[in-house]
Amino acid sequence: MYNQQAYEMGDNCCVIRDIAEYGAVRAQEVGAENVFNFTIGNPSLPAPAEITQAVADVMQEMGALRTHSYTSAQGDLSARKAIAEDLNNRFGTDVTPAELFVGCGASAELCSVFRALSVPGGEILTIAPYFSEYEPFAQTAGLELKVVPPDVPDFQIKLDAVEAALTENTVAIIINSPNNPSGVVYTRETLQKLGALLERKSEEFGHPIYIVADEPYRELAYDGVEVPFIPTIYRNTIVCYSYSKSLSLPGERIGYIYVPRKATDGEAIYTAVAGAARGYGHICAPSLWQYVLARCAHLRPDLTEYDRNRKALWEGLRKAGYEVAKPDGAFYLFVKVPGGDANAFVKKAMEKDLLVVPGDSFGCPGYVRLCYCVSYEQIQRSLPIFESLI
Ligand code: PLP
Repeated sequence: MYNQQAYEMGDNCCVIRDIAEYGAVRAQEVGAENVFNFTIGNPSLPAPAEITQAVADVMQEMGALRTHSYTSAQGDLSARKAIAEDLNNRFGTDVTPAELFVGCGASAELCSVFRALSVPGGEILTIAPYFSEYEPFAQTAGLELKVVPPDVPDFQIKLDAVEAALTENTVAIIINSPNNPSGVVYTRETLQKLGALLERKSEEFGHPIYIVADEPYRELAYDGVEVPFIPTIYRNTIVCYSYSKSLSLPGERIGYIYVPRKATDGEAIYTAVAGAARGYGHICAPSLWQYVLARCAHLRPDLTEYDRNRKALWEGLRKAGYEVAKPDGAFYLFVKVPGGDANAFVKKAMEKDLLVVPGDSFGCPGYVRLCYCVSYEQIQRSLPIFESLI
C-alpha cells in the first residue's frame, strides 16, 4: 500500500527537468559549449566572497560541535535578529525576531504557510504564469489551487479576473514578484489596487484573505526598478523569502518566513506555521547557514553579469521580431512563440540544441521561458538560432 496522491506527484514528471536532462546528454555528445541550455533557474554567479569567508569564520570561531548542532526550531536568534535588522534598515519596518521563522528555502516555507492557512474546502489563488510547484505544495496542504488568467502582454495582475476568482473559501493569494517565469515586477500601483480589492473582499466574506509573498527574486531587479515590500502595502501579508537566488545558495536550503504580528491572527498563524514546519519535518534549518546569515543577511548580489545577459538577449530577440515581456527582474525572459504552439517551438529548438521551457508548464500556453543564467558568449551564439526559428 502507498499513497496514491504522493505517487502521482512523484510520477508526474517535470518537463523542465526532462529538457534539462536531455541537455546533459547532448552536452556529452556535442560538447557543453554547443548546447544552449536556457532551462533551469540555477544561478550562474557564485555566492559572494563574503559568504565563503563567513563559512570559514563560523567554523573556526564556533567549532565543529556547535556549528553543526541543532538550533531552536524557529531558527537561531542571531540569524533572526540579523534578518529583522536588514529588513528594518531597508524598508523602515519594525520587524522583530519573534515574527521570523528561519526556513529551509522558499519551497519548504510555502508548504508550511499553505498548511498553516489550510481549512476544509480552502482555496488559494495564483496568477498565471506561475511557479508550477505551487500545485503539489497546495495539494499536500489540502488546499485547492485556483489559477487567475494572465494579464497579457504586460503580465501585471488583472484585477477583475482576481475578483472573479475570489470566493468565500479563498484563504490567500500567492504573489511572486519579480516573477518566475515572466521576469516582470509588479508595480506599487498594481499591488496597492490588489490590496484594496482584498481588503474589500475580506470585509465582504468576513475573514481575512492573506497575500503569500513568494520572494526568492526580491533582490534581482534591474534599472532601479522598485520591488515593493508587500507587508508595507497590505497588512495581511506573509512573506516567504529564500537566499537560493539572491546569494546563489540554492543547494543550501535557507530562507525565512515573516508573519507580521499585526496581521489578523498574526500570532496564531506564526504558531501554525511552526506547527506545520514541525509536521513536515522542516524545523531547525541548516545551522551553519543560519550562522552565516547572522553575519551576511545584509549582502546583495552584484547583478552586472545577469544584467548584461538580460539586455543582450532581450534586445537580440526583439530585433529578431519576438514579443517579450519586459524583464525587469529575476533571471528569466518570457517570449511569445511565433505560431502560438510553445511545445512545437520547443521541439524545433531542441533539434538545434537550443533548450527552452514551454509556458504551458507555468499555466500560460503560447510562450516559452528562457533562463539567462548562461555565459554571455552563449547568449550571443544563440541569437542566430533564435533568428532562424522565427
Ligand atoms: N518560488 C519560485 C517562484 C521559484 O522560482 C523557486 C525556485 O526556483 C522557489 C519558490 C523555490 O525556491 P527555493 O530554492 O528557495 O526552495
